Amino acid sequence: MKKILRLFAVILLFITLGSAESIAQNSVQSPTDFLGYELGSQWTPHHKVMDYFWHVAEVSPLVEAKQYGTTNEGRELMLSFVSSEANMARLEEIRMNNLKRTGLLDGESSADTTAIVWLSYNVHGNETSSSEAAMKTIYELVNPDNTETKSWLQNTVVIMDPMLNPDGRDRYVNWYKSVVGDDINVHPDAREHHEPWPGGRTNHYYFDLNRDWAWLTQKESRQRMNEYQKWMPHIHVDFHEQGVNSPYYFAPAAKPFHNAITDWQSEFQYTIGENNAKYFDEKGWLYFTREVFDLFYPSYGDTYPIFNGAIGMTYEQAGNARAGLGITTEEGDTLTLHDRLTHHYTTGLSTIEVSSQNAEQLVSEFANYYQTAQNNPKGDYKTFVIKQDNNPDKLSALFELLEKHKIEYGQAESGATLSGYNYKTGDTERVRVSEGDYLVSAHQPKGVMARILFEPRPELERFCDL
Ligand SMILES: [Zn+2]
Repeated sequence: MKKILRLFAVILLFITLGSAESIAQNSVQSPTDFLGYELGSQWTPHHKVMDYFWHVAEVSPLVEAKQYGTTNEGRELMLSFVSSEANMARLEEIRMNNLKRTGLLDGESSADTTAIVWLSYNVHGNETSSSEAAMKTIYELVNPDNTETKSWLQNTVVIMDPMLNPDGRDRYVNWYKSVVGDDINVHPDAREHHEPWPGGRTNHYYFDLNRDWAWLTQKESRQRMNEYQKWMPHIHVDFHEQGVNSPYYFAPAAKPFHNAITDWQSEFQYTIGENNAKYFDEKGWLYFTREVFDLFYPSYGDTYPIFNGAIGMTYEQAGNARAGLGITTEEGDTLTLHDRLTHHYTTGLSTIEVSSQNAEQLVSEFANYYQTAQNNPKGDYKTFVIKQDNNPDKLSALFELLEKHKIEYGQAESGATLSGYNYKTGDTERVRVSEGDYLVSAHQPKGVMARILFEPRPELERFCDL
């Protein structure tokens, strides 16, 4: 009898150990537990950031991840989708419904008002703190103890791209590791604060990926755009870093804006900025808004989403390649990687919160944007005409670009003489459109983007609006 009891006890112990292990396997580890160090105490190389995001996707029912491409140097590009379990079960429905809302997909959209927030990290490779912040952000989104983030995910899908420029980032991180000593040196003259040319800002071909959203000359941009067009988010944040002595920058941006930016897009930048400011004020962190960073050139990570109906924003933390793991600022403070990632983490969550709180209006204004684009576009021109006798290679390159942006084009079925602006002479005059000439109508879902790319003279808002 004793023997049997002992055997029973052994079995019981085995079962208990087994289930404890499976519980551990089924809970999401924090970045610190997963990586073995505190975030901010060192950099996380690209492959480990990917490992962490895959870990979260494997363990949490609130997350799915996909690899959407590779860089020129073969590094992985990935997206994570985060929402409530109920939303994750109908993720494809949410995506398609949103595309129907834009008119890019046929069919009636439903009354669903799930907000879609897209967060883009580390497009400039040596502005490194945001990818560290991304890990903290996704952890707090899925951490079961954080009930606040769970409530936001009830009506919000968060799409995270943890590292847009892995080649540039690893170039910087590997360089830094090669010059830093056992202890960091916070003196601004130390070698670790002077990244040599070409630096990690750009991608493999030294192209600035935050100048490539509209032109899509680079592999990373083209692969990302393919995903962006499938989702068409309502909010897009592009995380950056600026000089070490600047306070944090968040929206609203500096005026004057491009006049295609709607009142709603402008107003909601204020709403988001006020929510961010609330958290920064609580902590006594410095920030500024409205002084620099324009919303004009269409190939940035803030303007491109804006001209595609979203609230697009740049967030800028002090840091950059100059900061290293810690640097003394002009004020005599020490700015650390930990400070930098904490600020980006805070604005990231704040943006998701305010998007969730305003999801209904966000979605309805987004739908309005696309209704207006199709039915009542604001620009001066109804149609852009491209003569069919242009260089065929240039024509096909142009059409390929339009297709990547989902801008529709067609051909004239008959000839006509009309009043129009002639790009060659710079005059408004009688122009001949021939049968077979290519036409891009301003009346289409992507009419605003078409206008931005084709208009002869982009216009800022009137000065009396300033
Ligand atoms: Zn930047």
